[in-house]
Amino acid sequence: MAFEGLTNRLQSVFSKLKGKGKVTEDDVNEAMREVRLALLEADVNFKVVKEFIAKVKEKAIGQDVMKSFTPGMVIIDIVNKELTDLMGGSAAKLAKANKPPTVIMMAGLQGAGKTTTSAKLAKLLQKQNHKPLLVAADIYRPAAIKQLQVLGEQIKVPVFTLGDQANPVDIARQAMDHAREQHLDYVIIDTAGRLHIDEALMDELKQIHETVKPDEVLLVVDAMTGQDAVNVAESFNQQLTLTGVVLTKLDGDTRGGAALSVKAVTGCPIKFAALGEKIDALESFHPERMASRILG
Ligand code: GDP
Repeated sequence: MAFEGLTNRLQSVFSKLKGKGKVTEDDVNEAMREVRLALLEADVNFKVVKEFIAKVKEKAIGQDVMKSFTPGMVIIDIVNKELTDLMGGSAAKLAKANKPPTVIMMAGLQGAGKTTTSAKLAKLLQKQNHKPLLVAADIYRPAAIKQLQVLGEQIKVPVFTLGDQANPVDIARQAMDHAREQHLDYVIIDTAGRLHIDEALMDELKQIHETVKPDEVLLVVDAMTGQDAVNVAESFNQQLTLTGVVLTKLDGDTRGGAALSVKAVTGCPIKFAALGEKIDALESFHPERMASRILG
């Protein structure tokens, strides 16, 4: 289960503090050293860790934790609040176009879960009484189009495709016309991924962006890849200006680093978390809930 290691480490740090009637500044310092190690071990970006520890320490000392009756609890509260802030504070909402359709462009490296997440998002919107259109613009990965069609059929959401010979920019443009004609209010574009970020990929994404002027550009990243996921997000964001990140595979044995660093490093909020392969395994990302989950 995700975050298990981090949760265990933090719990053992805090149980030591909770057991004490009084804590000294040394105790706080020692606890923070251990929290620091726990975060680094969970693959959180080291700069993020450094700032995090500095903030928690400053607050802990400012709040006279040492004089409180339950110093351990006060410190846990501070850590909880800072973890929440680190992940963006409050839940970030999906943008909505003034005039439908709202266009959501999905981007990401191959295997991150982009196609699956596109379908999951369509399902989520459908549950909220919206009429989404899925657009198969990943013409390179063998079977990506078919995969989207199968998923679309499963959830009864139309899938727009022009096959794998058409230009992705044309596909996106025609999909927009189709959505308007059919009065569909969300367009979710499954764009191409690559194994690595390259210029051809970015150029294509920029062209699609230019053409459809998306309301959301969501980057799908695999949380299992830790710091790599954060680096990928940083690179995409430099070239494409992301509006949000979707973290996938949070059901796996991830150490949590990506969830904790991505907002701090890129400034992009995590908007959704995917917790499994099933079509309904996607939820809005709530920083406060995630912080509580991490603290166990
Ligand atoms: P794409 O290349 O980015 O479009 O990736 P796919 O959508 O095809 O997903 C790649 C693999 O990851 C598939 O086997 C998915 O079932 C799996 N996958 C996607 N999201 C999740 C998730 O949240 N949890 C788990 N366990 N697997 C996922």
